Amino acid sequence: MTYARAHGADKGAVTKRSFITLHSAAVMAVVVSVAMMGISPANAAIPSAVGTATTVPAAPAIMPATSGTAEAVAVWTAPIDDGGSPIIRYHVRMVDAATGTKDIASKDVAAPATSLSFTGLPGGVPVRFQVQAVNAVGAGPLSSLSNAVIPATRPGAPRIGTSTAGVGSAMGRWTAPASSGSAITKYHVRMVDGATGTKALAVRDIAGNLTSLNFTGLRQGTSVRFEVQAINALGASGYSTRSNPVTVLGPPGYHTGTQTIGYSLQRRAITLTIVGSPTAKKRVMVIGQIHGNERAGAQITRTLAKSRAPAGVAYFVVSYPNPDGAGLNTRGNARRVDLNRNFPGWKRNGRPGYVYYPGTGALSEPESKAIYASINKIKPTAFVTYHQHMNVVDYGGGNKAAQVVYARQTGMRFTQLSRYPGSQATWLHAAYPRSTVMTVELPSRVTGTVVSRHLAALKYLAAHH
Ligand SMILES: [Zn+2]
Repeated sequence: MTYARAHGADKGAVTKRSFITLHSAAVMAVVVSVAMMGISPANAAIPSAVGTATTVPAAPAIMPATSGTAEAVAVWTAPIDDGGSPIIRYHVRMVDAATGTKDIASKDVAAPATSLSFTGLPGGVPVRFQVQAVNAVGAGPLSSLSNAVIPATRPGAPRIGTSTAGVGSAMGRWTAPASSGSAITKYHVRMVDGATGTKALAVRDIAGNLTSLNFTGLRQGTSVRFEVQAINALGASGYSTRSNPVTVLGPPGYHTGTQTIGYSLQRRAITLTIVGSPTAKKRVMVIGQIHGNERAGAQITRTLAKSRAPAGVAYFVVSYPNPDGAGLNTRGNARRVDLNRNFPGWKRNGRPGYVYYPGTGALSEPESKAIYASINKIKPTAFVTYHQHMNVVDYGGGNKAAQVVYARQTGMRFTQLSRYPGSQATWLHAAYPRSTVMTVELPSRVTGTVVSRHLAALKYLAAHH
């Protein structure tokens, strides 16, 4: 029989008490604890305590615990046996139900309360309670452990996974956040513009048991990223981080990829878009706007880059071989070199500032170097370059009949202009004499109808050169 165990309180229950024998240490404990409560021993009811052999209270009976939003509530009933001294307070211990015994927190509440709420708890962590009653003698034994309850909170943000692109589609993936005590009912998936990362292109919800979502009916060449929110009964998480960008693919014959082939003087990327199979027999290279202030050609090539190549044909499209000139709206590049006089066959002509200034030598400019290397890799069977504003089709070499058809289909005059040293077309015809080389001098005004007409003519030439 030892009351020290009762004071220890969490070592186990006191199963049997005697009201007849009372160890002197217990009496001392009464005196000391009363003194600690600020009551003078002279005024305290010590004689009565000693006389009736007061002891610690019995264990409270634990009742079903409940839980709420970031909250768990312990509930108990007071023990009938208060040890002969009124119960002052209850000591409530909250333990981690996963490990079974690890203390998370403990709190006291004044009698006669028979419940105590713990708030600000993390969602999804199950807890149990144990309660002991405390009277003037000390703390009684702990009750048994309560049932486990799980406080709930809004979910944490999902972890974004790797997104992928398909033909006309893109798929976002993610991993569910750790349980927050309330099942995820759905995910809110936002598909944003891959370039800006912010503009929402589409938003869809999907059931909470799924962790991927495929967006279909997308236009090829569209770059997208994903971000995801988890939602449960208590609300929505924040958004995940944004996924990697992916580019929507087209069906076979459509867009197969865009690559950077070089950089301008001002470090703008020069991109090449391949439409169709790169190993196609008919490889048609199309240049949109080598003179930065002749802007109409890029209207045609930008659409071409999103179109479908005829069977056996691949388009190799460079809309902006002179991106600095396009940005500055100048014929030349950032140091005013006419790139269409900067290819092999180059000839000195005037000084910087002259409108046809060809640079300091063949391929002195990074833009010409990039196009030159690209042409030598592709070895195009047809080469079309757009200019303005003469409104003629200029024969540069190779299949003449196909170019005559092009001129007729676009309502333009077919002719052969002078050959300029160092121009793309002049060099290409010399280097690849069997290639069909055509320069299209668009009119100054180019409408949507004109663009469509050129695309149709280009398609015919691509299939019939
Ligand atoms: Zn031009």
